[in-house]
Amino acid sequence: MPEIRHQRITVLGATGSIGLSTLDVIARHPARFSVFALTAQRQADKLLEQCLQFSPRYAVLGDASGVAELQRALGDAGCRTEVLTGVEALEYVSSHADVDAVMAAIVGAAGLRPALAAARAGKKLMLANKEALVLSGRLFMDAVGASGATLFPIDSEHNAIFQSLPANYARDPGAAGVRRVLLTASGGPFRTTPAGLLEQVTPEQACAHPNWVMGRKISVDSATMMNKGLEVIEAHWLFGAPAGQIEVVVHPQSVIHSMVDYVDGSVIAQLGNPDMRTPIAHALAWPQRIDAGVRTLDLFEIARLDFERPDLERFPCLRLAYQALGAGGSAPAVLNAANEEAVDAFLDRRIGFRCIAQVIEETLERAEPMPVDSLDAVLAADLQARERARIEIRKRHRP
Ligand code: NAD
Ligand code: MG
Repeated sequence: MPEIRHQRITVLGATGSIGLSTLDVIARHPARFSVFALTAQRQADKLLEQCLQFSPRYAVLGDASGVAELQRALGDAGCRTEVLTGVEALEYVSSHADVDAVMAAIVGAAGLRPALAAARAGKKLMLANKEALVLSGRLFMDAVGASGATLFPIDSEHNAIFQSLPANYARDPGAAGVRRVLLTASGGPFRTTPAGLLEQVTPEQACAHPNWVMGRKISVDSATMMNKGLEVIEAHWLFGAPAGQIEVVVHPQSVIHSMVDYVDGSVIAQLGNPDMRTPIAHALAWPQRIDAGVRTLDLFEIARLDFERPDLERFPCLRLAYQALGAGGSAPAVLNAANEEAVDAFLDRRIGFRCIAQVIEETLERAEPMPVDSLDAVLAADLQARERARIEIRKRHRP
């Protein structure tokens, strides 16, 4: 048996879809993993239940009004977890000397500061929160490089690419003989919906993903294909590949999680059932392999794998993401911020589905390019883009 090193883990966004899958894998391997801190924005009940199961040293609840009650309930149950609140507390539990690894699974730009704190503190960082990387690309990767943090992609596609690259890969596709990164996309719930019907689709339809059960924001991103756009930018930063070497392949079965095409003609892929516990377990145990509770892949049941080109006419968000990556500077941060605002407005039924892309395109066109060489500059670009996006959203309000 190889030696097992025990890891103390902070799970940011513990009550979300990725957070729950992470705790499921952790619970299967108590000798390997223990929980140092759990965090959630709301849902104090769920957080309480998780604290009682995993006895973390800290719990961070974003909603300050619920902190006293959560602390009291923990005390009543004889649990010694200390409850904190605020973004500084998130940074504290991400960078604490007693933490070995951090799962960054907060949704959206709100996750940037704690993820960056973990990167700066040299932690093993398991990154699900792709928005953090889209927002702050170079800054984030520089922080990882400077501190010696180890970065594991949790996004299934990027985890698949990580698994398909050589072990000593140093963010240089040319040096590794990589011709292209092939990012697979399910195509989402509207892959075959005619353009004319897209304006009528509801948040419920958008959140009903054919292959994955996920949080609401990423579900809408999958429906617009902005998720794949964010992932192109994420792949650029993680693997050092220029936009021209990252190709999106629609693959409706979501069995191939992505591929790497090498100059000798080899294409290496990672396959599996669509279950986020696979990439989570891979990152948690790397370089070892552990049981993740995932069903064995039955190729006879799947029988066939299909591939299509993405349709940039019906899914303009993917085009906008490539455009923002090409423009560089603050453009990806603007794209991300406008998208978060537009998705919120769509989920609230303030705007229609096709308005999401319109809001992002207008915001990108009107945003002043800014350098994003510090956290303050990134946050300023994010804030400015949100203000602009809200104006664009109001113009399109549904009666
Ligand atoms: P989710 O909505 O299910 O969970 C989000 C978590 O973040 C919750 O615990 C919530 O309490 C917390 N949170 C929300 N807003 C917050 C804020 N302002 N401050 C602090 N915490 C906050 O989302 P999810 O589907 O688990 O996705 C999490 C991240 O992982 C996203 O960035 C998403 O893109 C990425 N991701 C998810 C999947 C998936 O299968 N769900 C796959 C790949 C990548
Ligand atoms: Mg993904």
